[in-house]
Amino acid sequence: MFPSLTLELPSWVATQVKAATANGPLQRIEERMALAIDLSAQNIREGSGGPFGAAVFDADTCELIAPGVNLVTSAHASIAHAEIMAMSIAQQQLADFDLSQQGSRRMELVTSSEPCAMCFGAIPWAGLSQITCGARAEDVCAIGFDEGDKPSDWVDSLSRRGISVQRDQSRERAVAVLQEYLTINGPIYNGR
Ligand SMILES: [Zn+2]
Repeated sequence: MFPSLTLELPSWVATQVKAATANGPLQRIEERMALAIDLSAQNIREGSGGPFGAAVFDADTCELIAPGVNLVTSAHASIAHAEIMAMSIAQQQLADFDLSQQGSRRMELVTSSEPCAMCFGAIPWAGLSQITCGARAEDVCAIGFDEGDKPSDWVDSLSRRGISVQRDQSRERAVAVLQEYLTINGPIYNGR
């Protein structure tokens, strides 16, 4: 037998999400991004992975469907990026691989840093309608991470598939977490 693959969010994530949504859905994009960034910050303080957080929300009601944090190092899984975790857990939550549920819902992915090449590739298959990003790829590369070979027109490319992209939401706050990761000498785990 080979090992089975289980990717489980650390228990502190649920605690943090519960506190953040205690007063109801996060109606403002600033609040939704603050959750993604707070998850990224707590992730490095807990030592559970890289400086990245994300969450999937219902784009109309702002209901949180699923959070995600980067678990690459702790889960021994190079695919365990925050966006992949949030999209995958949202799909489990809805018991549907298509987050749009056959076009009946609009879903938003909020991510503390813009998607890398892998997450960019995964986004169209997830049934999302929109993405909101904090830090830019250049901010992530500035602390040593490799974002992979993403097309330079990736925003337009997603738009053509009906997925709108909003960038630079709370970018400075997102970048501050990346810088904190550098300060604490967090592992930079690029492949070769
Ligand atoms: Zn990624």
